[in-house]
Amino acid sequence: LKGDDEHMSQTDKDFEKALRPLSFDDFTGQQKIVDNIQVFVMAAKKRGESLDHVLLHGPPGLGKTTLSHIIANELESSLKITSGPVLDKPSDLAGLLTNLEEGDVLFIDEIHRLNAVVEEYLYSAMEDFRIDIMLDSGPNARSVQISLNPFTLIGATTRSGLLTSPLRARFGINARLEYYDAKLLTTIVTRSANILGAPIDEVAAYEIARRSRGTPRIANTLLRRTRDFADIKGNGTITLDIAKVALDALDVDENGLDEMDNRILTTIIEKFKGGPVGISTIATACGEEGETIEEVYEPFLIQEGYLKRTSRGRIATELAYKHLNIRPHFGGQS
Ligand code: ADP
Repeated sequence: LKGDDEHMSQTDKDFEKALRPLSFDDFTGQQKIVDNIQVFVMAAKKRGESLDHVLLHGPPGLGKTTLSHIIANELESSLKITSGPVLDKPSDLAGLLTNLEEGDVLFIDEIHRLNAVVEEYLYSAMEDFRIDIMLDSGPNARSVQISLNPFTLIGATTRSGLLTSPLRARFGINARLEYYDAKLLTTIVTRSANILGAPIDEVAAYEIARRSRGTPRIANTLLRRTRDFADIKGNGTITLDIAKVALDALDVDENGLDEMDNRILTTIIEKFKGGPVGISTIATACGEEGETIEEVYEPFLIQEGYLKRTSRGRIATELAYKHLNIRPHFGGQS
């Protein structure tokens, strides 16, 4: 349920594609961002210019890729997709850039993971729509300038803090996606169930929604698994009872925390007396990558008030103790 692309199978990807909104009207929530971007898109179209470069940040599964598809659709241009770690050498990037047509949108996922050399190449491409390419090497080496068709770069990142300032400065539009509340996610779950042709009770949609870590991708995944339970253990309709059975079976607890969320909190409390403890120490003790904890788990645990970030490390809050039914040892209580 981690909600990142790397671990997805082909069926997961097909499923995600089927449920992906194709227009701003279908895209639920993030209202302010959507309103603003709609204006920028219309203005660019009206002037016949390419849209300013867009930086989208926020945890995985909140709709960064989806928004990029929608922006390209609305601009009536095509979207080329790549990601930071894939662009190994400047020539990889040059190949992509020189193939862009006027007004195209280039989406670079995980843009914070671009290597420094490639990133530097991007600067002139973004700013002046040109790149300098080195031909030959040694004494014959010379650089030629290639001009590019005006394009829009959309960069997505889960860690905007890791972006260098020269790169960040080259994005004219900067938007931070927030976790979705249960009401918005209920709309998303209901819409997805309709597309899948799965009958669902409103209370069941809400139950899935409120236990989806504020994340549409997770809501859709839970819906799909719940539908399996409805088909096999019920009569096909997703009822509240079926949803509860399915969510329990999937180790999603009453408050929507998954197994890793709970493992992180339990570890901090039981092994490190509630903290403060550093992220890499937590990661080792939990058998998870520190980066994943910081990008995927921690932001939600902090937002929901289970975890606090201090200069000396992470601390489990009183709410975390309560949630896990563990009695705190601090504050003179016994
Ligand atoms: P990200 O790029 O931020 O990791 P995605 O754009 O891939 O996230 O979103 C994951 C899935 O969640 C998409 O397939 C889409 O179906 C669903 N989704 C995301 N945001 C929304 C939204 N605002 N409304 C409806 N569905 C959404």
